[in-house]
Amino acid sequence: MMGGSFKIGRAFGIDVKVHWSFFLLLAFFGYLAFSDSGRFVDALVTIGIVVALFFCVLLHEYGHALVAIRLGSEVQDITLLPIGGLARMKSLPERPIDEVKVAVAGPLVNVVLAPIFFGLALLFGGNLLVPTDILSGVGSLGQVFVALGTINVALVVFNMIPAFPMDGGRVLRGLLATRLGPVRATDISSTVGQGFAILFILVGFFSNNFLLAIVGFFVFLGASGEAQLVRQREQMRGLSVSDVMGTKGRTETVTPYHNFGQILDSVIHGYQEDFPVLDEDGNLVGIITRNEIMAAAHSPDRYSTVRDLMKTEFPTISPDDDLFTEGNRVLQESGFRALPVVNDGNLVGMLSVDDVGQAALLRDLRKQH
Ligand SMILES: [Zn+2]
Repeated sequence: MMGGSFKIGRAFGIDVKVHWSFFLLLAFFGYLAFSDSGRFVDALVTIGIVVALFFCVLLHEYGHALVAIRLGSEVQDITLLPIGGLARMKSLPERPIDEVKVAVAGPLVNVVLAPIFFGLALLFGGNLLVPTDILSGVGSLGQVFVALGTINVALVVFNMIPAFPMDGGRVLRGLLATRLGPVRATDISSTVGQGFAILFILVGFFSNNFLLAIVGFFVFLGASGEAQLVRQREQMRGLSVSDVMGTKGRTETVTPYHNFGQILDSVIHGYQEDFPVLDEDGNLVGIITRNEIMAAAHSPDRYSTVRDLMKTEFPTISPDDDLFTEGNRVLQESGFRALPVVNDGNLVGMLSVDDVGQAALLRDLRKQH
């Protein structure tokens, strides 16, 4: 979903990105307004309101992001999607009460914005008692502000539904976590979140509100994804990369001059699937992964050398890195199944997805001693 987003600006040290499908949404609303009233200017007004709505969503996300930064988290970027905004954090706040603060900060922005828009509405002769249908000729500037005020109220109400991982669900989790600990709190809130998600999907379908159904779908995925993330974090707590990595003595390496037939042999007869490539002086010069090896196996490439097909662009991990916040994150973001662990320029091992998966075993083992 994040692929296909591009940067439109930067403020407070955070990049703002927009997903391309957002423009489809604008075109769609413009089309609906135009086909309703037949007037081009109404289409433009509707598009303007949708843009203003997303500006409110952007400010909402900045509410989350700036409080998170104040509490020591790192914010990667803010992305606007047709279903809403997303402030991507590199790390979740550790203390439950901090998570509550970050979660509340977003809707709080809309709590501030709503009366401002209603005030402007009154100033420009809008009637707060007349609901505005943004699809059928809004009429006056006053009614535009009525619409924006109403939208901000709706954003507060909708986001505070305790449907984890929506804001209200995060508040619920944070409050539960102060008593029950993070894992149990997350399990409970993600179950509640998935219940709401199913409700959103059903109501969305039966009321022809497909946006609600889509939101429900993403809430469902998000709830299970985050539950898993928190479980991983607890399993890896206190572990560093060197605790679980495959050490150098157990890592098979290849040289740039090996050919594919030789590596294929290692893959078939060994357990390792991704190999660091070391030159004659022992310097790490590349990695060769199962994907390349398997692709080459069925092509004329099998006679070529490792040097021709190895990957030379890849991140490395330090053995002292924290397993959850650094090692596992870099591994996940890289898209590789394993990455070399390097200390002072020397290869000291490999960290694979399987190694990370075994972190839970190691923790249990340590608890017994
Ligand atoms: Zn929010």
